[in-house]
Amino acid sequence: MEVQFTCEECHSGIEVIPSLEASKVKCSVCEHVTGVKFTPDHLEGVLSDCPSCSRKDFYKQKDFNRKVGVGLFIIAAILSIWTYGVSLIVLWLFDLFLFSKIGNVVICYKCNTNFRKVKNLPSIYGFNHEMHDRIVYSDHNFEGKQLEH
Ligand SMILES: [Zn+2]
Ligand SMILES: [Zn+2]
Repeated sequence: MEVQFTCEECHSGIEVIPSLEASKVKCSVCEHVTGVKFTPDHLEGVLSDCPSCSRKDFYKQKDFNRKVGVGLFIIAAILSIWTYGVSLIVLWLFDLFLFSKIGNVVICYKCNTNFRKVKNLPSIYGFNHEMHDRIVYSDHNFEGKQLEH
């Protein structure tokens, strides 16, 4: 499992390899130190609680860099003037291909820590707006229970 913390101070990404000995991570940009707590589950790639904020509420989404997508679209749109739209079709196919290749990233609702190569991915749900708002704005703790409608 790959873990990327988000620095509370400057919002930089901090890459961390899970380790039972690690108890603190230091931001390489602003040197802010955050406490972490890894469990044997984390070493196995199983995510049940957050090593940074110890919450159990996560969501998954495609690990997709939006800037790249938008850049490609603009290029394809410009090219399509000469290619009568063929480049847009090529882009669409390329997108489909990329989308199937792209992995998932799991994100902690509370502290925005990113997790990649998570083994228990199938048990993690997609983004839930209501859960997000209640966790972020009213500090609600769902303790790993998915909000159902
Ligand atoms: Zn920082
Ligand atoms: Zn967290």
